[in-house]
Amino acid sequence: MTPLDGALWLIRHRFATFPADHPAVPRCAGLHKTCDGSRGKHPAVAFTRGWTLNEAKARETFGRGLRNPAVAVGACSGPEGWRLLVVDSDRPGAIEDVASACGEHWPATMRVRTAKGHHDYLWYPPALKLGNGLGQLQGQFDGDVRAGNAYVIGPGALHATGVLYELDDPERPPVQAPAWLLDALVTKPTYAARRTRWTNASRPAPSGTRGLVAFVLDSPQGKRNNRLFWAACRAAEDARDGHEDAQDALLSAAVQAGLSEREAAATIRSAYQRTGATT
Ligand SMILES: [Zn+2]
Repeated sequence: MTPLDGALWLIRHRFATFPADHPAVPRCAGLHKTCDGSRGKHPAVAFTRGWTLNEAKARETFGRGLRNPAVAVGACSGPEGWRLLVVDSDRPGAIEDVASACGEHWPATMRVRTAKGHHDYLWYPPALKLGNGLGQLQGQFDGDVRAGNAYVIGPGALHATGVLYELDDPERPPVQAPAWLLDALVTKPTYAARRTRWTNASRPAPSGTRGLVAFVLDSPQGKRNNRLFWAACRAAEDARDGHEDAQDALLSAAVQAGLSEREAAATIRSAYQRTGATT
């Protein structure tokens, strides 16, 4: 796969694509003023707006000079407006190890093999706003998470070490990010103790409901929707497991915290759908 092949594959699969430096050109093609010397990864355009989904434009850009194809993560949009999340493992199997440690199973999803490990592409619901933070995975995961204002080098790119970025299976699309991963990413370490208690199967549902309601009521502005989504996911799991259903309590808490009833109801519905529970 050449860089142009990679760029065209990305565009045909609706990933916002832009050119980055290629290690085989004599001088870094990055937009920056001073290069740190790491080659093959610096964006050659302002990637948050210089990406394209147009094949003709990509043929022109990637045909003109040697450039690595890259993906503007925050500009990508999946089914029903879902957002792109890329889990960047610094060694093969790093994310699978995290999954096993959590007693979970890592799903088969779109994967690009990189120089050191792999990039796994996943969709996550628009009600959540993720960045590049690792949340609860901090210190547990050998790698990074890319979401929002971030980019990754794509298939068909050449790494400075001579390794080619390759798709594991070009027919495999990104799947929805597993709930446990999203929970880990949106949960701040300060809530670790509480979260551990909540994920204990023997926890009593009523105090769980009170805790979830308090968590939503406490929300600072800007965090309300994220917190409501997280709490609603927990409530949906409880309801699915036959405990008291906290969704009405969460809806009133969210409205009390300042969200509109309509927005809050949509967030709760989205959380319940993801958990496989019905509202
Ligand atoms: Zn550079």
